[in-house]
Formats: sequence, structure tokens, C-alpha cells
Amino acid sequence: MENDINAFAGPGGYIGVNSGLILMTEAESELASVMAHEISHVTQRHLFRAAEAAGRLSIPTAAGMLAAILLGTRSAAMGQAAIMAIMGGSIQFQINFTRENEAEADRVGMQTLATSHYDPRSMPTFFERLQQATRFSGQGVPEFLRTHPVTESRISDTRGRAETYPYKQYPDSLDYQLTKAKIRVLTVTDTATVQDYFQTRLTRGTAEQRAVARYGLGLMALKAEKYKEAETIFQALAHEYPNQPQYVTGLARTALDARNFNLAAARYKKLTEQFPDNTAIKLEYINALLKDDKTELARKNLVALNPDPQQLPTYSELLAETYNKLNQPAESHRYLAEYYFSMGQTRDAIMQIRLAQESKGLNFQLASILNERLNFFQNQEQEAKANR
Ligand SMILES: [Zn+2]
Repeated sequence: MENDINAFAGPGGYIGVNSGLILMTEAESELASVMAHEISHVTQRHLFRAAEAAGRLSIPTAAGMLAAILLGTRSAAMGQAAIMAIMGGSIQFQINFTRENEAEADRVGMQTLATSHYDPRSMPTFFERLQQATRFSGQGVPEFLRTHPVTESRISDTRGRAETYPYKQYPDSLDYQLTKAKIRVLTVTDTATVQDYFQTRLTRGTAEQRAVARYGLGLMALKAEKYKEAETIFQALAHEYPNQPQYVTGLARTALDARNFNLAAARYKKLTEQFPDNTAIKLEYINALLKDDKTELARKNLVALNPDPQQLPTYSELLAETYNKLNQPAESHRYLAEYYFSMGQTRDAIMQIRLAQESKGLNFQLASILNERLNFFQNQEQEAKANR
């Protein structure tokens, strides 16, 4: 289900691309072309309700953004949804998919793609692959294709338009390759096949591509709880590429998964100093502090974060865990509610608010915040129902 091929514009101002779709792309520009199409639906106001400030959308290095979020991904649900925050604010919208809107999103999307230095030709190429996938998939049509049907005329129109751009090589960024490797491991169902996939790539391609294969094997070792093996792989990668966040965090992650929380916190702390602008690393550091029972220090670090990471589901999740450890159940349920809401699970959010309201230690201020959030979530749920 989560692995279904999908791209969507969701609550909280997220545009999401799901893992099945990402794994289906064979080039970064193909991923960007889906993003560009989705973004165009928003900028062209193909919405049931017009969203304010939609004009600020752009493709912020599609894979780079994903990589930043996935770097610190702990929950499988997050990894599988591969949610990508494209714009700030809390705009909820639903796209009105008509044939005219699809054609316009393709046309405007291709312009966005070209001006963002991605390959316009990747759009028709990816459409063709999507069409083939539906032809051979026995499990019905993926969600993305139900809302955005790929027709022969869409393919030939975009192909014709793409051919008007000069031909160029568009190498994939390292972030894209690493993100795909990570998603491949996060969503693995057949371990042997994925193991084999990375194994055969150890001796193929460029040094960069071979390092990506080693990274994939390191993640597989972590998944199999083979911590010594993971430690060896990530030690070597971190030594060879000391400034590549994915490789050096792999080492910190190994300590965390091996339940060596003190070492994990120390490694993450060093990384927060090495990469002061990396939110995912900060959140992972806080997570390690929580596991190491440094709860107050974790709370201090959480509240000191900028407003940006507060939009990430992980932020609310960590706050909920912190308040749970501090034995403040009302606050804990309150932030779990925010977590569920940011994951698009409004009904679970409402349930958590109710649990918070029944918790001990409610003060007047928190009680009124809970009331306000309950009203907001209930309204969101009603509007979502009306649009279904
Ligand atoms: Zn569309």
C-alpha cells in the first residue's frame, strides 16, 4: 500500500512522492519531472480551493530535499511515504484532475523542469515507463495513474515538446543515488534480491557508484542487525568521504541501532558541529539523547530548533517521546496528535487530543490549546470528507 506508485499534494503543504514511484525512476530528472508536474497543479491553481502563496513553489533540488529528510528517518512509515516538504505554511488542498489540467501541468511542468536544470526528455520517458508498468501490473492501476492517466497523446505531446530543447547529458546527483539506495533498503521485501542488487554493483560503474553500493550494503547489514559488519562498512566510507553526511551518519546510526546510546549521542553531537545547518542530524542527535536518558538535554535542544523543522513529523514525534519520558502525558498526547496530523492521519490526531484532554495535569492554557486544535482537526476532517 505505502509502496504503491504515487505522488500527491497533501495536508500541511506537503507534496509527497512515494517510494514506489521513486524506485521506478531511472534518473533524477524523471523524479524531478513528476515533482514538476505536481507543483504545476498547485501553481496553476488546479485546486478545489485556491491556495494562497502557491506562486512560491519551485523544485528545491528534488533529491537533495528528500535526502535531507530521509537521512534521519527512523520510522518505516516516514521512509515509505518519503514525504517531501515543498512549501511552508499549512495549506490543505485537493487537486481537480481534469484532462485540461493534466495537459497544462505537463506543459508548465516541463518549463519548470528545464529552468531547474533537469532533462525535459525525462518526462515522456518516465510517462512511457509508467504506462508499461500499468500494462503489466496485475494488481490494478496505481493511485498516481488513476488521478493522472498517462495516455498516448500525453506521451506524444510531451515527447514533441521535449525534443525542442537541446540535447544534453544530465548526470544524477549523489543525493539521488543515495536516496534511492536508502529507500530500496527501507522498503525491502525480498532481502536476497536487494542484497544481490548492491553486491553486483560493488564492481561496476564509477568510484562514486561503487561507494553507493557499499552504503546500500551497510544499510542492509544494519537492517539485519549485523552491527559489526555495518560498523566496518561505515567506518571505511566515513574515512574515505568524511564530508558526505549519509556516510558519516551511517556510522552514528550503527551505534544507535546497536544500542550503544552513549557512543551514538557522542557521534551525532560531533556531526551537529560538522553540519550545523543539517536539521535531520540535529533531530537524530536529540533522538540519541532521549535513548541515552538525557531527557532534559533533549528537550532543550528540541525547543531551541528553528521553526522549519517544527513542520516535520519527526519533530512532533520526538516532543511526544520527550514529554512521555518527563511524565507529562497531556503534552505527550498533544504532540502525538500533531505527529499524526502531519502524517495525514487526522482521525488518529483527534483521538490523541481526546486522550490529552483526559490526562492528568491539564492547566488552563494547555486545555484551551487542545480545544483549539480539536476544532481545527475536526474541521479538516470534515472538509476532507466533503472533497472525497
Ligand atoms: Zn496531474
